[in-house]
Amino acid sequence: MHPYPELKLYVAGEWKSADGTPVINPADETVLGTVPHASRDDLDRALSAAHDGLRTWRRTSPAKRAEILLKAAALLRERADEIAVALTLEQGKPLGESRTEVLGACAKLDWDAAEGRRLYGRIIPGDHGMRHMVLRQPIGVVSGYSPWNFPINSPSRKVGGALAAGCSIILKASEETPAGAVALVRAFADAGLPPGVLNLVFGVPFEISEYLIPQPAVRMITFTGSVPVGKRLAALAGQHMKPCLMELGGHGPVIVCDDADPVAAANTSATTKSRNAGQVCTAPTRFYVHRSLYGRFTEAFVKKADALQVGNGLDPASQMGPLANSRRLEAMESLVLDATSKGARLLAGGRRLRECGYYFPLTVLADVPDSALAMNQEPFGPLAMINPVDDLDEAIARANALPYGLSAYAFTRSAGNADRLADGIEAGTLSINHLTASLAETPFGGVKDSGYGREGGSEGLEQYTVVKNVSHLMQPAA
Ligand code: NAD
Repeated sequence: MHPYPELKLYVAGEWKSADGTPVINPADETVLGTVPHASRDDLDRALSAAHDGLRTWRRTSPAKRAEILLKAAALLRERADEIAVALTLEQGKPLGESRTEVLGACAKLDWDAAEGRRLYGRIIPGDHGMRHMVLRQPIGVVSGYSPWNFPINSPSRKVGGALAAGCSIILKASEETPAGAVALVRAFADAGLPPGVLNLVFGVPFEISEYLIPQPAVRMITFTGSVPVGKRLAALAGQHMKPCLMELGGHGPVIVCDDADPVAAANTSATTKSRNAGQVCTAPTRFYVHRSLYGRFTEAFVKKADALQVGNGLDPASQMGPLANSRRLEAMESLVLDATSKGARLLAGGRRLRECGYYFPLTVLADVPDSALAMNQEPFGPLAMINPVDDLDEAIARANALPYGLSAYAFTRSAGNADRLADGIEAGTLSINHLTASLAETPFGGVKDSGYGREGGSEGLEQYTVVKNVSHLMQPAA
């Protein structure tokens, strides 16, 4: 029996237990623990603590802030093995992926720590004796919402960005995968973060967001999750004139040009598709393969999918774990049924693997009509759809045809093709000849329905600041 941590709220520097809802292990559907739900009083205390915490934290030097962020990252690295077990238990991904996720969160904190010391303003030349200073100041109390697919990585982006910029934050992490956020907050508490600067709550998501977002103390919203929920939160924030960072869903197109190596592209695509059982907003999903390579690409992809070991993430032999919740399992089954009923060819997977646990195989559909639901809705699961295209113009047009615009991918050896792709693809990130969409040092986010604002890179921290122009006439007229 692997230990699963006790789950608590963290408000005003104190850990607190409360009644709540069960956390389910997706590998065997057993109950791992109870996630505590915050009361209205807890939320009010979090608001007041974050308001007070902000006063201390914004006056703390960037160097001292960096020290605390780096210390929290160091503690997480020390604890990576035990946190990884908790992540696998609650979310399902293989242990190796969980460990990589913890280390990825540390890399984000390291980056934010360093970047916080470089939040430079500027001086604009003016009339003699006049100095215009552009200052970047912390935006204030942040209300953050992180999803269940990356239990520690997603919260680390929100917490790291906010804290490095001098803001305080109330994080509502996922009720379905809460242990990652608890471990993150524990590392900050142990690293010496002053009380109130970081608060962690759970509850009924819409009740919390609809209470917190309109509060005058809250100055910014950062959300990662689905497009419909993102639009709902952005609309509420708009009514109260509050800026948002919205990291929403995607429907990653992958363009395989006629000069690519189809087998290498298929192998790396299938491996990336299986990561986190496809429950990744940047997952490669729609494959547009030049007709001359279509057969070889599809064959290699199917071979890889059939060979993939699906099982409990704690088993070292497992290459892909279960889906994180029963909703995803039902979604996969109905998307496959819909696509095949409209004429798609099912080449691998397609059906639930076991009666107990939310196991679903890496599934390959070919010749999928554009009318299939899976070609339009984010599948958010291990579903790959492969279609032939006749040229790059057609591929780019089909890649851009959906309202999503998060991550896109392409395989080509031609600089000319790469240039046309860089110019023509409507997405926040385009990766050519590889499938990594986001690193600590690169800006990540979407266009169109995939949201706005960026996490990571130097742009990431700027989201948590406001620009103030101070004009100083240094020799006032007598
Ligand atoms: P969902 O839309 O109900 O929830 C998505 C996330 O938002 C969850 O973490 C949930 O706790 C939170 N949430 C829901 N309603 C909220 C509200 N009113 N206020 C604040 N937070 C709220 O869907 P789901 O079934 O959990 O996930 C399925 C879909 O979500 C997927 O199809 C995928 O499109 C999307 N998703 C995207 C990401 C991402 O990284 N962009 C992450 C998780 C889920």
